Amino acid sequence: MNESVVPKPLPTRRRRMTIGRRLFYTHLLVALLVAVALGSYWHFAAESELRDEIRTRLRDNAQLTAQALDNRNWDGIHRPADAETPTYQALLNKLQAIATTNPSVTRLLVFRTTDGAVVLADSVGATSGYSPGDRLTSLDPLTARLDKEPLLESKLPPFNVLLAIPGNADYGLALQVQTNDLATKLQKLRLNSAVAFIFAVGLALAMSLWLASSARAILDRFQTRLRDIADGKPGQALDIDVDDEFSDLAVAIDDMATRLDLSQREREQALLDLNGTRERLEDMVRQRSAELDKLNVMLRNEIEQRCQLEAALAEAAATDTMTLLLNRRGMVEALDHAVEQAKRHRNSFIIAIADVDHFKRINDQYGHSVGDQVLIALGRRLKNSLGHSDVAARWGGEEFLLLWPRINITEAEQRANALRQVLGEVPIYPGGPQITLSFGVAEFTGLDNLDRCINRADKALYRAKQDGRNRVMVAV
Ligand code: GH3
Ligand code: MG
Ligand code: MG
Repeated sequence: MNESVVPKPLPTRRRRMTIGRRLFYTHLLVALLVAVALGSYWHFAAESELRDEIRTRLRDNAQLTAQALDNRNWDGIHRPADAETPTYQALLNKLQAIATTNPSVTRLLVFRTTDGAVVLADSVGATSGYSPGDRLTSLDPLTARLDKEPLLESKLPPFNVLLAIPGNADYGLALQVQTNDLATKLQKLRLNSAVAFIFAVGLALAMSLWLASSARAILDRFQTRLRDIADGKPGQALDIDVDDEFSDLAVAIDDMATRLDLSQREREQALLDLNGTRERLEDMVRQRSAELDKLNVMLRNEIEQRCQLEAALAEAAATDTMTLLLNRRGMVEALDHAVEQAKRHRNSFIIAIADVDHFKRINDQYGHSVGDQVLIALGRRLKNSLGHSDVAARWGGEEFLLLWPRINITEAEQRANALRQVLGEVPIYPGGPQITLSFGVAEFTGLDNLDRCINRADKALYRAKQDGRNRVMVAV
């Protein structure tokens, strides 16, 4: 997985309506609405049926009572005194018979309306607690309506039906019809409805909870699975055992996880291959570097050896093998350098050429090897006479050239004379012959030319030879 990808934190749940809650509330609301609608319909239908039954029973009993009484018998009964008549007594007996034979009728009252007040005339059936002559104030508001409606259902207990006696505005009947069984049924119906409603609410709650929690459980599994995929963990396949959109989604997610896993493995393998190749390349580079380092050292050694060889060769090329002084070639280089310095610093130097007098005789007299020994000894002694910046060379045969940069021509003449004397005083080497030297000395100035200066020194030497040898001549 890409390390740079940081998973976003989930937004806090407090601020949002989760799918689980939404499902719960919607399902609960719908279930409650359906339960309330169906329950109300059933309850009110049943209640209305019961009420109809009550009403029917009241009316049936009222009509039965009305039919049983012959209205015409009431024609003569208008005042309280009329109650003493045999007709009234017969009517009462009839009412008594109705109450006795009809178990639905609990009580029957005959009332009289006098000056707008309702007064009990007689009662049959169960005792009512009223006595004839008592005012029935509770019936006051209803009796006025009896003019228009001959049968009234009363909700004023204990009488539930009022009957007008047609053609007789002074008397009326009030019945108490037994409806307790129906009232109990109504009560039961209400109780059942309440229980059913509570059960429906409970069922709706349980169903809503189940729906919400099952949806949330599936969503949680999806979330865990997707988090695992995002973190690159293998995780467990989503095994949704229902066949719906969730299972389709689970299959799609698992397929995606498999593909991601495959591509991750391929990438890791490619990385491993790449690392292997890189390590091999690094090894090769290290090996090559080591080889190059070795070659470099060898090359450096070779160059050093060559330089040393070249230096040795150069030194050999500039050195006289017999005297180990500079040879003519070496001296020319030294002279060129001295000329350069003199020109740069505007000063002068001395060239002194020393030649062994009658050297041929030494060869002839002692042999060539003694001659060689003389030249070697002379070279050594000349070398020992040199100052810090002085240079000596075997200029040719038995001729030596001395370069004195730090002195003037007068000092040079003195120095050449001193050298001539010291070298001529004793044998040039112990047991060797005694020699003399002639010197030609010339000064090189900035205006001069090297060849001309050497030439002048040569000429001065020639003059020294001419003048009898073993002397120093300064060039003019
Ligand atoms: P002068 O006083 O006029 O210089 O006389 P000279 O005999 O020294 O001069 P010359 O030029 O006549 O002779 C030089 C001799 O030096 C000739 C030669 O054989 C000898 N010679 C030159 N080089 C060497 C050498 O390397 N070894 C020996 N043994 N002799 C040499
Ligand atoms: Mg000579
Ligand atoms: Mg010579």
